[in-house]
Amino acid sequence: MSYLSTPAQKSIALVAHDSQKGNLLAWVKYNREILREHRLYSTGTTGTLLEKQLELEVNKLQSGPLGGDQQLGAKIVEGEIDFVIFFWDPLQAQPHDPDVKALLRMAVVWNIPIACNRATADLMISSPLMHEAYMREIPDYEAYHQRPLELDPESLTPSPN
Ligand code: PGA
Repeated sequence: MSYLSTPAQKSIALVAHDSQKGNLLAWVKYNREILREHRLYSTGTTGTLLEKQLELEVNKLQSGPLGGDQQLGAKIVEGEIDFVIFFWDPLQAQPHDPDVKALLRMAVVWNIPIACNRATADLMISSPLMHEAYMREIPDYEAYHQRPLELDPESLTPSPN
């Protein structure tokens, strides 16, 4: 088991699908003063709205359907994002559904707090740990790395155990 330090000043990803953008903006507006203390990242359209409507400084990535969710997932893997608010649309299929799933999955793989609705977001942002460093436990992936995976040298197919 290992740990990664999530600093007091967090790197927060803010993402909302179109039907949820109003919901996210209302939540961000309510929590604007707390969020200003942290570094903010967003997918393209969400970020543009946050900048224009709430005058927040946001690191904007690509729009979600054009790869922004994947960029956020990659940042989680690189340890550059430590907190995610992702209001995805539960009632409508998205063209970039695999990317949405990949972002959700990376958050779980790397034990990143992630809120997908306002109640969870409210509870996360009101945690005392919001203003403190937090040692995030990283699951032990050693067994995964050590899994038996031998190929027969001739056929390059899995060797029988
Ligand atoms: P958007 O992307 O902020 O560019 O609309 C959101 C998403 O679909 O992930």
